[in-house]
Amino acid sequence: MKLNRLFFILLPALIALLCACTRQQAMQTDSFYAMNTYVSITLPQSEKARFSSIRRYVEDIESTFSRTRPESDLYRVNHTSVTEVSPVCADVLLRAQGAARTTDGAFNPCLGSIIELWDITGKAYIPTEEERTAALAECDPLGYTVEGKTVTKQNPQTLLDLGAVVKGYAAGELLHALRESGIDSALINFGGNVALCGHAPGRTDGWRVGVKNPFLPDEIALTLTCTDTVIAVSGDYERYFERDGVRYHHIFDGSTGKPAASGLVSCAVVCEDGFTADMLSTALFVMGKERAYELWQSGVYDFEALLFAEDGKIYVTDGLLESVQLVPTAQTQAGVPLVLEKLEETF
Ligand code: ADP
Ligand code: MG
Repeated sequence: MKLNRLFFILLPALIALLCACTRQQAMQTDSFYAMNTYVSITLPQSEKARFSSIRRYVEDIESTFSRTRPESDLYRVNHTSVTEVSPVCADVLLRAQGAARTTDGAFNPCLGSIIELWDITGKAYIPTEEERTAALAECDPLGYTVEGKTVTKQNPQTLLDLGAVVKGYAAGELLHALRESGIDSALINFGGNVALCGHAPGRTDGWRVGVKNPFLPDEIALTLTCTDTVIAVSGDYERYFERDGVRYHHIFDGSTGKPAASGLVSCAVVCEDGFTADMLSTALFVMGKERAYELWQSGVYDFEALLFAEDGKIYVTDGLLESVQLVPTAQTQAGVPLVLEKLEETF
């Protein structure tokens, strides 16, 4: 009898608790085009007042790092030998230089001359060996110094290109700001760089994000469940042209001046720091799985990765084994099923 009474007293409280747990926070998404890609920001509806300041931040980043706008910091760096830049630009350039060193030039912030020569999405030109050699002379990955706000290039012809890091950097900074202000659910998609804050509505394990199948980019190969982190993906299917059955894509190997041919077709990197995630997704693509494994193991950067090899194998670092879920029907164009393999020293 007593127990029954207790049950009836507790029942409404239990129901209220259950409702609170399952009540889904209403979310709102703002999308716009910036930095040659679509940006979409999903926030709790109650936070929608933040959309305009986020847009302003993205516009600021774009006007700092644009290679084509004459008023941008990067434009000035590229058109003069010595120039003063904003603190944000100086910071990113310093970090880029550190990354060029750590990745042994696989990430090369000074590849502008090679990138312009090929012009993958423009004139789509296959340069001659002489042209590549001449351009590579301007692409020393450590071809500049930063002292305070002053950037000095060793070779005045060197062109910096930060396309491999700026989107991830911006996504990471936004994630950091949202977390600082106590937001417990947000997703920022910066054209292949996804910053995840807290949990998706109705979930307690973060966000479940689909990663494209590089062989059939309209399809999802797998999902990752993560929280408070940035996922950056670099693939050979993003920007490329084809000639005589060969794909020429936009991620270059600074040691050859050609599109990287490391045996990988896409790399996804999960890292709390957005700059590092984006930088590594490009660098690992150039390095290939053996060097990628060594870098992961060295602990220089704290990250996890998924490496899609051209034979359909997907190499996964330890820390992601629990959070990755392969789509059972995922396959290459030739119909070879995609398979997950733990990335380890088997080579
Ligand atoms: P996306 O721009 O498609 O998101 P990435 O983050 O991989 O892909 O960046 C690729 C861009 O980075 C290229 O379009 C080019 O501007 C630049 N880039 C290409 N190869 C390298 C490299 N080895 N190191 C640094 N930047 C690179
Ligand atoms: Mg990148």
